[in-house]
Amino acid sequence: MTEEIDFANARHPFLDGRPKRMLIGGRWEAAASGKTFETRNPATGGLLALVPEGEAEDVDRAVAAARAAFEGPWRRMKPDERQALMHKLADLIDAHYDELAWLDTLDMGSPIRHTRGSRRHLVGLMRYFAGQATAIYGQTADTSLNGNMFAATLKEPVGVVGSIIPWNGPLWATVFKVAPVLATGCTLVLKPAEDAPLTPLRFAELALAAGVPPGVINVVTGFGRGAGAALAAHPGVDKISFTGSVGTGQEIVRASAGNLKRLSLELGGKSPHIVFDDADIARAAPAAAIGVFANAGQICSAGTRVFVQRGVYDEVVETMAKVGAGLRVGAGTDPASDIGPLVSPRQLERVLGYVGSARDEGARLVSGGERLGGPAHAAGHFMAPTVFADVRDPMRIAREEIFGPVASVMPFDDLDEVVRRANDSPFGLGAGVWTRDVGRAHSIAKRLQAGSVWVNCYNQMDPSMPFGGVKMSGYGRESGAQQLDEYLNVKGLWIQHD
Ligand code: ADP
Ligand code: MG
Repeated sequence: MTEEIDFANARHPFLDGRPKRMLIGGRWEAAASGKTFETRNPATGGLLALVPEGEAEDVDRAVAAARAAFEGPWRRMKPDERQALMHKLADLIDAHYDELAWLDTLDMGSPIRHTRGSRRHLVGLMRYFAGQATAIYGQTADTSLNGNMFAATLKEPVGVVGSIIPWNGPLWATVFKVAPVLATGCTLVLKPAEDAPLTPLRFAELALAAGVPPGVINVVTGFGRGAGAALAAHPGVDKISFTGSVGTGQEIVRASAGNLKRLSLELGGKSPHIVFDDADIARAAPAAAIGVFANAGQICSAGTRVFVQRGVYDEVVETMAKVGAGLRVGAGTDPASDIGPLVSPRQLERVLGYVGSARDEGARLVSGGERLGGPAHAAGHFMAPTVFADVRDPMRIAREEIFGPVASVMPFDDLDEVVRRANDSPFGLGAGVWTRDVGRAHSIAKRLQAGSVWVNCYNQMDPSMPFGGVKMSGYGRESGAQQLDEYLNVKGLWIQHD
C-alpha cells in the first residue's frame, strides 16, 4: 500500500496550520505553561508548525502516565500480543512511509531520496523486534550448593524508559527507541529534538492507531534544558536511552545519578575511513566521499578522518573532491538533491568555524569550504561538500566532531602507523577499511577501537546487527540480537526443593 498524496506539491496533511499537541497518557495535550516553540524548514526558513514547549511539569505527567501504563494491563499482555501489535505498527509505518519521510525532509532538511531510502530498514527493524518479543529467555544454572537447588534467571522489563533523540534522523531514531520498548514490555517517554519534533508526533499517532495502549508511548516535545533535563533527572524513570552529542551525554550521566538510572548512550564520533593502496580505488574513493557527505555530514558515524596510503593519496583526494563537487546540494524536497541544508543557522556557523580553524592550522582546502549562496540556496543553511587534504592529527578538524560535510584527508605509510593514528581519538563509533588483502582486513578489524568496522563498504546497517560505540562514543548497543538486554533486568531465582 502506498500513499496517494503528492507531498512535494500538496501541503503535508500533518501541517494543517494548527499548533501541535504532545501525547501524554493517550491524550493530545498542550504544555501546562501553554508555551509553544516554532519548528522551521531549514531549506527555506519557512514556519512548519508551533509545538508545545514541554517542561518539568509535563515530564512529570508523562512519567506518571508511563508508570501507570507499566503497572496496568500492558504488564499482563502476552509476548505474542505485543508482537502482533508491533507488526500492526510496522504495517502502518509501511503504509504511511512516504508521509513520514516527507515530514523528516521538511523538518530537518534531509533529501527525500535519503529519507525515503530507509523504508526497508525501519519497517524491518520494527518487525525484527516484534520477532524478539517472543524470544526473551532466562537461563538455568547448575549450582555447586548442597541439596536440591533450582537456580534460574528471569528477564524482566526495566520499567519506564526515557528516550532523548537528536534531529539528524527523527524517524530513524524514533523507530530505534520505540521497538525495543514494545518488545520488552517497557513504557516510554520520548523527547524529540527541538529542531525536528514533527515526525515523532506523527509516529505517535500511528502507534495509537495500531492499538498501543494509552501511556505506553508518551511524547513530550520541548528543549533540552527544559524537558530533556527534567526527563534525565526524573526519579520515576528507570532508564535513559540517549542519542546525541558527547557534552549532552555527559550532562545526562550526571543528571541520572540521583536514582542511578540505567543508561545507554549513542554519542558522537570522529570515525576513521582507511584506504590501503591495494584497494579497489574506483569504489573506495567515492565511498570515502559519501561516507562524509551523506546527510550533509550530519551522521554520527560519518567517516570524517580519511586515511589514505601514500601511493594512492593524490588520486583519492582528487576523486573525493570531484565526487563532492558533483553532488547536488539543494532543498530536500527536490528529488534531484543529493544533500540538503544543515539543520540550523547555528549548525552552519559551527561548521564554517571549523573550516576557518582548518585554514588557520594549515590544512589544504581542495574543494568546497563555503556556504552556498545564490537564488536556490539563499534562504537555507546550505554548505558545499568540503575536502581538506594534508590534515595533521592534532588539528581540530581531525579531532573534534564537526557534524557537517567536511572531510579531513591524511596520508599514511603502513598498517601499524594507521592503526595507532586511527585509534588516537577520544571516540570509537565506526571505522572503514578498504583493502583486497583478506588477512589484513581481519587483523585490522580486530585492532580498530570502534563499535562497527566496515570493510570494503561503509555505514552498513541491518536490524540483525548491533550499532553503538566504545570510548566517548558511548555505551550500549541499538539494533541486533543483544539489544533487548538493555531494556531488561535480570532476576536470580533460587528455589530450594529438598
Ligand atoms: P545538538 O547540540 O546538536 O542539539 P544535543 O546532543 O544537545 O545535540 O541534542 C540531542 C537531544 O538532547 C535533543 O533532543 C536535545 O533537546 C536534548 N538535550 C540537550 N541538552 C540536554 C540536557 N541537558 N539534558 C537532556 N537532554 C538534552
Ligand atoms: Mg525543523
